[in-house]
Amino acid sequence: MQGLMQDWQLTCDKIIAHAKTNHPQREIVSRQVDGSITRTNYGAVYDRARKLSSALQKRGIVFGDRIGTMAWNNARHLETWYGLIGIGAIYHTLNPRLFPQQLHYIVGHAQDRMIFVDLSFVPILEAHQAALPSVECFVVLCDRAQMPDTNLRHAVCYEDLIDEGDDDVVWGGFDENTACGLCYTSGTTGNPKGVLYSHRSNTLMSLTCTSGGAMNIRGMDTCLMVVPMFHANAWALSFAAPMAGMKLVMPGPMMDGKSIFELLDGEKCTVSAAVPTVWLMLLNYLEETGAKLPHLNRVIIGGSACPRAIMEKFDKDYGVQVIHAWGMTETSPIGTVSHIEPEIADLPYDEQLSYRLKQGRSPFVVEMKISDDDGKDLPRDGKAFGALKVRGPAISNGYFGGEGGNVLDDEGWFDTGDVASIDPLGYMQITDRSKDVIKSGGEWISSIDLENAAMGHPAAAECAVIGLPHPKWDERPLLIVVLKDGMSASAQDFTDYLADKIAKWWMPDDVVFVGEIPHGPTGKVSKLDLREQFKDYVLPTI
Ligand code: ADP
Repeated sequence: MQGLMQDWQLTCDKIIAHAKTNHPQREIVSRQVDGSITRTNYGAVYDRARKLSSALQKRGIVFGDRIGTMAWNNARHLETWYGLIGIGAIYHTLNPRLFPQQLHYIVGHAQDRMIFVDLSFVPILEAHQAALPSVECFVVLCDRAQMPDTNLRHAVCYEDLIDEGDDDVVWGGFDENTACGLCYTSGTTGNPKGVLYSHRSNTLMSLTCTSGGAMNIRGMDTCLMVVPMFHANAWALSFAAPMAGMKLVMPGPMMDGKSIFELLDGEKCTVSAAVPTVWLMLLNYLEETGAKLPHLNRVIIGGSACPRAIMEKFDKDYGVQVIHAWGMTETSPIGTVSHIEPEIADLPYDEQLSYRLKQGRSPFVVEMKISDDDGKDLPRDGKAFGALKVRGPAISNGYFGGEGGNVLDDEGWFDTGDVASIDPLGYMQITDRSKDVIKSGGEWISSIDLENAAMGHPAAAECAVIGLPHPKWDERPLLIVVLKDGMSASAQDFTDYLADKIAKWWMPDDVVFVGEIPHGPTGKVSKLDLREQFKDYVLPTI
C-alpha cells in the first residue's frame, strides 16, 4: 500500500522561491572585488535569478547544459546558480587556483557552454580561452561601469544579460534526480573527476545542514560564508541559508585575518564556516591587535583536521564554540559533525575536547563504517582503524562521464580514501588520508595527529608532516614548520615539546623550517607538493 502524500519533487528552485515568499528581506552582503560592500536580499536574488534564466533561454541555453562559474562568494554568483538550476541547467564551479592544464581539462570534459567570471579572473580566462573551445560566451560578473575592455569571446556584462530576460520564465517541474551542480575533485591519481550533484541530493543535504545535529542553520543567525562556492558545494550553505532565512555575508576575494574580522564584527556574524588556514589567519590577527569577537558564537571548521590549539583558543580566549566537521566533494559535502552529545556533556574540559576534536558523528543521511584491507567490517571500538566507507542519498555513485568506472562496492559503499576509527559513541576520527599515512615498521603514524601536536607549540604558525623513505623502517616522519613572524625555535625545541605528547616511535626524525608551506586549490596543505619538494631530503637517522 502506498502512502497518500503529495508528490512534491525536491528541486532547488523551490529553495529560493521559499526564501522569496517567507523571508524576502533577509540580507545578502557581499564584498566586491574592489573591496566595496554591496547589499541585496533573498527577494531580489530570486527576481534577478528568474530574469537571468529567461535571458539564458533566449540565448539558447537548455536543460542539461553545463555552465562554468569562476567567481568568489558574492550575491551575483548566488543568483547565477539559481538562474541556472531553475531551468535545469547545471552550475559548474571552477576553482581559480587550478593549474592551467586542469582548467582546460575540466572545462573541456564538462563541455561548459558559457563561463560566468568575476573581474579578478578575467585575465586568467583571457589567457586560456583558446584552450576552452566549448565556451561560446563569457559573462563578466560586474556593474556596467566596471565592464573591462576584454577580448573574451562574446563577452557580456552580467547586468546587460539580466536586462535581456523577462519575468515570466517557468522554473522547475522536472524530476528531483535531475543534475544540478558539478564540482571536480582533485583526485589523487589521474585526471580530476566530476562530482555531479542532483536537485534531490542538494535539497536533502541542505535540510540536514539546517538541523541541530549538523550545522543548525537558522534565521536567527548571520553567517560569514568563507568556504568558497567552488569548494565542495560551499558546504551546502548556498542552499541551507535561503532555506532557513539566514542572513549571508560573503567575503569575496578578501580572506585575510583583518578583512574577515571586519565582516564578522561589522555585520555581527554569529556563525561562520571555513578551513583551518583561514582561522589561523584570523586568530593571529586577533592576537596582534587584541580585537575580540563579541557576536560570533560558533565556527564550523572542516576541510582538514582542526588543530587542538585552534579549538582551545576559540573556546578560552574568545568564547566561540568550534564545531569540527568532515566531508568531501563526493559527500555533498557533510559526512560527519562533532557535537557535544549527552554522554560527553559532563566530562571534564580536556576529556570532552578529545571527543570534539574528532571529526564527529554522521547525520541521518550518512551511513558510515570502517573496514580492513580484506573489506571485513571493523568494530566501533575507537581503537581499530581502517578504510572509511559511506553510503547515502547525497553521496556520489559515480563520476561525470563515467570517469573512474564503478566507484561503489557490491553493497553500495563508497570508499572515501580516508583512514579512520569510530568509537562506541559513534564519533569518527580520521587517522589520515590513506595516501598520507606514514608507514613505519609495519605500523601507521598519523600525520594529522603529529601536525596537531606540533601546532600547539607557541612559535608554530603552520605545520605539516610527510613520510620520507627509510631503509629500515620503510618510512619515517619529517616535520615541516613555518614559524610565526618574529618568533624563533630550533628543531630540538619542537622535539622537546612533542616528547610528552606523542608515542616515542612517532617522533619526527627531523624538523625543518620553511618560509611557506604550499597549499592546494582549496587552501589545504599540499602534501603532493611537499613530497616533491623534499624528495631528495635525507633524514639524519639514515
Ligand atoms: P580535495 O581532495 O581537493 O581536498 P575535498 O575537498 O573533497 O577535495 O577533500 C576531502 C578530504 O579532505 C577528505 O577525504 C579528508 O581527507 C579531508 N578532510 C575533510 N575534512 C576533514 C577534517 N575535518 N579532518 C581531517 N581531514 C578532513
